[in-house]
Amino acid sequence: MEIQSALTSISTAIGIAKTVSDINKEVDASNYKLQMADLRSTLADAKISLSEIREEILAKDQEIKRLKSFDIDAKKLAQHLNHYYKKNKGGDAIGMPYCPHCLEAKNGLFTLHYGKGGELYCGSCKNLYSEAQEMLT
Ligand SMILES: [Zn+2]
Repeated sequence: MEIQSALTSISTAIGIAKTVSDINKEVDASNYKLQMADLRSTLADAKISLSEIREEILAKDQEIKRLKSFDIDAKKLAQHLNHYYKKNKGGDAIGMPYCPHCLEAKNGLFTLHYGKGGELYCGSCKNLYSEAQEMLT
């Protein structure tokens, strides 16, 4: 977990900073330089961890935005049993049903296809729907 890594680095850096502040740098110059190098390295680690956290947060923000903007107008779809379909001019279900899992997960409108066993499946999530049926005109 990058957050734990960043917190650990920052805690270590605080400890090193305390050690540095206790060193009499005129008397113990080599220890002072060593501690300062350690401090810079630890702070660099914390910076890397925070950059990775920032990237993860941005990716999650984009996913939240996508999920919020995914909106299906149910009035434009026809329902038959537990599946949604396109509507024909008469308002009845027609063609292949949309994948209910992908609709629920807000992945998109994916029409089901016939698999090798004749069952309908989703090309996106690969779920099989043995009860689903194609609606013919
Ligand atoms: Zn699906």
